[in-house]
Amino acid sequence: MPLDVVILGPPGAGKGTQGQRISAELGISHINTGDMYRAAVAEGTELGAKVKPFMDAGNLVPDDLTIEVVRDRLAQPDTAEGFVLDGFPRTMPQAEALDTILGEADRELSVVLDFQLPEELAEQRLLKRAVQQGRKDDTPDVIHHRMETMRIPDALIEYYRARGILVGIHADRTIDEVFAEVLSVLQTAAAR
Ligand code: AMP
Repeated sequence: MPLDVVILGPPGAGKGTQGQRISAELGISHINTGDMYRAAVAEGTELGAKVKPFMDAGNLVPDDLTIEVVRDRLAQPDTAEGFVLDGFPRTMPQAEALDTILGEADRELSVVLDFQLPEELAEQRLLKRAVQQGRKDDTPDVIHHRMETMRIPDALIEYYRARGILVGIHADRTIDEVFAEVLSVLQTAAAR
């Protein structure tokens, strides 16, 4: 059985860092829609041109486009053993589409990790990152706007909670502490 994992949480909660570690430890593919979009913009592809205005404005890319991108990505052979999806789904239509895509391949989500971090703390982390990386465009206002637009809808959390596959992770700890808990959750999920 493939291990199909989703990580939810606000920007700054450490989804990317943990996604990479899970991928390295368990040998499943880390898929981050934000990274895919940034790569497309950097390479100047047709997709990059389509998504750039939304990204520049700090808004979500429309669902139909994002769903197609994820559908194509999940069809790649490197996802056969599983994947850890980070940054998707962010809306209910995306969550429903993900179930459809997986269902077509006779798969279903194994577990959804909900990274919990108070928004104030998440904003502080993003501001610190912006300063460290010299991202002058990332002002407190811009970061606050991104936090609001990227907030995971309650309905999405409930959708997975109702299915019994949601696991809350306290993200306000060291990377190693969070990873230890994540690994134990994933080992339990894999054994089911
Ligand atoms: P991130 O690095 O996850 O903050 O993503 C960077 C940008 O990519 C976001 O601000 C959105 O414009 C876009 N994006 C990433 N994931 C999604 C998604 N699931 N739905 C819509 N837009 C997305």
